[in-house]
Amino acid sequence: MTTTVGVIGLGNMGGGIAATLARHDFPVFGFDLSQAARDRAAATGVTPVNSLNELLEKVDVVILSLPKAEHVERLCLGGEDAPVSDAAEDHHKAESLLALARPGLIVIDTTTSTPETSRKVAAALATRGINFIDAPVSGGPKGAASGSMSMVIGAEDEVLASAMPVLEAMSGSRVHVGRCGAGNVAKIANNMLAACHLISTAEAVAMAARAGVSPEKLLEGVNAGSGRSGASQVMFPNWVINKAYDSGFTMGLMRKDVGLASDLAQQLGMELPLANAVAQLWNESRATLDDSEDFCAIVQRTDPTLFG
Ligand code: NAD
Repeated sequence: MTTTVGVIGLGNMGGGIAATLARHDFPVFGFDLSQAARDRAAATGVTPVNSLNELLEKVDVVILSLPKAEHVERLCLGGEDAPVSDAAEDHHKAESLLALARPGLIVIDTTTSTPETSRKVAAALATRGINFIDAPVSGGPKGAASGSMSMVIGAEDEVLASAMPVLEAMSGSRVHVGRCGAGNVAKIANNMLAACHLISTAEAVAMAARAGVSPEKLLEGVNAGSGRSGASQVMFPNWVINKAYDSGFTMGLMRKDVGLASDLAQQLGMELPLANAVAQLWNESRATLDDSEDFCAIVQRTDPTLFG
């Protein structure tokens, strides 16, 4: 039997995920609060719908690609206490997955959220026989649109097996890191590294340039050596050196992720001096870089002339 998929949140990532699944011949329905996002999805073989209820009537699997944990909690559980944007407030006052979805539905949450939100939502949905997986992603809008994203997954074995055909179609690699919530632990740790690497690579490139080694040559050397990272191999060559700053991942989303890492370390009673210093740099950069700018622009604070 064909699995029918719904994607909620058709932004930079969700739009690409929905298009990828449509290309793999899944019937795909898409919902977003933004009409523009629904129109873009319609041009990629996705059937847009106008409400959560309409989507849930049609699908076996729901994929979430929402900005933050708060959006996930409100969409899944409803409730007046969960903070969310004004637009979503209007839409979901009475509508939530908990209230509307039928038993047996599988929810795959690709949002970079919090472990506790994933566990809370999974426990509540389980009371109605609805399954929840946290499967945050890496690879950016290009990875979403090409089906090559990598996923770190928190799920029970049986639910994961049922979701696998959809997960395989939308991603290039999947690492099952533990039970529900573990996916977001791994994603927060991954993005903490990415936030550190971007700044440390900027400092290394700027220092070498000042000492007479060009950024291109330095990166060639680093990428053949032990200093390489996602920053040196992907971010600098694609979005920094050419000054394009068009990765599709915003400063606001990275600041969110850096904050999630600080919160997790604090909950665990851990002092992480390097992560703390990096979080402070991301926060201080608000003075010159607003949330809508590309996250790679953080390097400009290291050397505005070289990277600006
Ligand atoms: P985005 O802002 O481009 O897209 C989010 C979409 O969700 C928007 O179109 C918005 O209108 C919609 N939305 C918000 N609330 C909604 C609701 N209640 N119902 C329906 N639609 C709603 O964000 P994005 O860049 O696609 O990121 C999505 C998630 O993926 C984030 O958690 C982000 O941290 C994570 N992520 C992003 C990237 C990237 O490179 N952009 C990479 C990895 C992970």
